[in-house]
Amino acid sequence: MYFYVTDVLCKWKDKQKEVKMRDWEKLLEENKIIWRHDGNEKTPHALLQSGLHSDVFFFADELVYHPSLLKRVSERLCTLIKKQGWDKPDVVVGAPFGGAYLAVFLAAELGVDYVPVEKLECNSDDSFDRFAPERFQPKEGSKVIFVDDVSTTGSTFVGLRRSFSNLQPAGAVSIICRGRQTVDICMPFIALAYPEVSEYSPDKCPLCAMDSQALKPKLHRDKFIK
Ligand SMILES: [Zn+2]
Repeated sequence: MYFYVTDVLCKWKDKQKEVKMRDWEKLLEENKIIWRHDGNEKTPHALLQSGLHSDVFFFADELVYHPSLLKRVSERLCTLIKKQGWDKPDVVVGAPFGGAYLAVFLAAELGVDYVPVEKLECNSDDSFDRFAPERFQPKEGSKVIFVDDVSTTGSTFVGLRRSFSNLQPAGAVSIICRGRQTVDICMPFIALAYPEVSEYSPDKCPLCAMDSQALKPKLHRDKFIK
């Protein structure tokens, strides 16, 4: 029996847990990991890799500059994993690069090994990214939790699951779920925050219409984070 994002959301509908999710969102915003447009026309908005424009962007890889927050995130995820009753993993595998930092902390929290992985060059006909262990191959049949910092479509988890098909997936975790999980990752999933995000095609973008500039946030970080 798998829990998908929607199942987890339904389970978290009671007020107390909703507050907890919003608390995490707030904490991540305060630490400038989640950036949100302030409604000011002089503030740029995010041009995403997909070509869409958005009022929200995640500087999730910058969590590594806040190790104490990363530790709190991994403690909470560890609690949720135990509450969900997932199988205890033997190893934790994190998608490079943002997922790797969280994977180290989560592995420490769970008291299991961390497996560093690298992303392989893909052929143009590969639908999903491929990964390989960087140093040591975990034992065949080991139970694994896959980690990514932000999950958008779920495709990275499918890539990880396929690349480590000799392991048994216990589940997948992210700090943030961008909410468009369009692929079936075929394993349980948990995220700490599910922020509301708007995405627009450039010709119908209300932020462009108010003369806000669409910029790639990682190339213009100083214009987004002040
Ligand atoms: Zn726009």
